[in-house]
Amino acid sequence: MTVDSIISTARKEKRVYLNEIESKQILKEAGIPTTEIRLAKSKEEAITLSRKLGFPVVLKIVSPDIIHKSDAGGVKLNLKDEQEVAKAFDEIMAAIKKNEPKAKIEGVSVQNMARPGVEVIIGMSKDPQFGPVLMFGLGGILVEILKDVSFRIVPLAPRDAREMIRELKGYPILQGYRGQEPGNVEVLEGLLLKVSNFVENRPEIKEMDINPIFAYKDGAIAVDARVILESE
Ligand code: ADP
Ligand code: MG
Repeated sequence: MTVDSIISTARKEKRVYLNEIESKQILKEAGIPTTEIRLAKSKEEAITLSRKLGFPVVLKIVSPDIIHKSDAGGVKLNLKDEQEVAKAFDEIMAAIKKNEPKAKIEGVSVQNMARPGVEVIIGMSKDPQFGPVLMFGLGGILVEILKDVSFRIVPLAPRDAREMIRELKGYPILQGYRGQEPGNVEVLEGLLLKVSNFVENRPEIKEMDINPIFAYKDGAIAVDARVILESE
């Protein structure tokens, strides 16, 4: 699936929200590493795909009506064998039936469980004056409660990427906090520049939310992604 075919499928279906699988395909094209991810339409398929990807895996609901998957009970992490996958599948379906009874369900996504890292987020939104703007922040409570984030207008110069990471109050966390593995700042600068470059050439994309990315000492991987298209 190419970016163009993902966009035209969504347009045909009159959707502007891309699901996690489509969004990660778009990230791949932009040069952002993501977890391997597949769509399973049944429990049996989820088990087969888990075996193929290798345990541990993560199961998540795929539905055009559910944007915050964990709030709806639609995310199950660190599943170590087929029994755990089967149980997680049933639990997700039961939770969605209860919490989002009207949601159209496409299936569940199966993906590799990424090892923990420093959680960061990259976002893109469009400002009426400035056009595409990138946001960078350290994940979790730092973003949600302390709003410790930085912004730059697209296109970013290398210096913008350097600054927007270093100006965060939480920057020391990236350098390794209390013996925790640091996140590689140069790698994250590279990701910001790749996203900038990508959205500059893709005016069809209205918003991007890569939340979270796990940063490691020698790399980084996107474990969740959401892309919203312009409504033509
Ligand atoms: P939501 O739609 O609620 O944002 P996410 O896909 O972000 O759902 O999953 C919730 C949390 O689960 C993430 O913030 C992350 O901490 C963890 N998580 C999600 N996917 C993975 C994965 N593949 N490997 C490890 N942890 C993951
Ligand atoms: Mg998320």
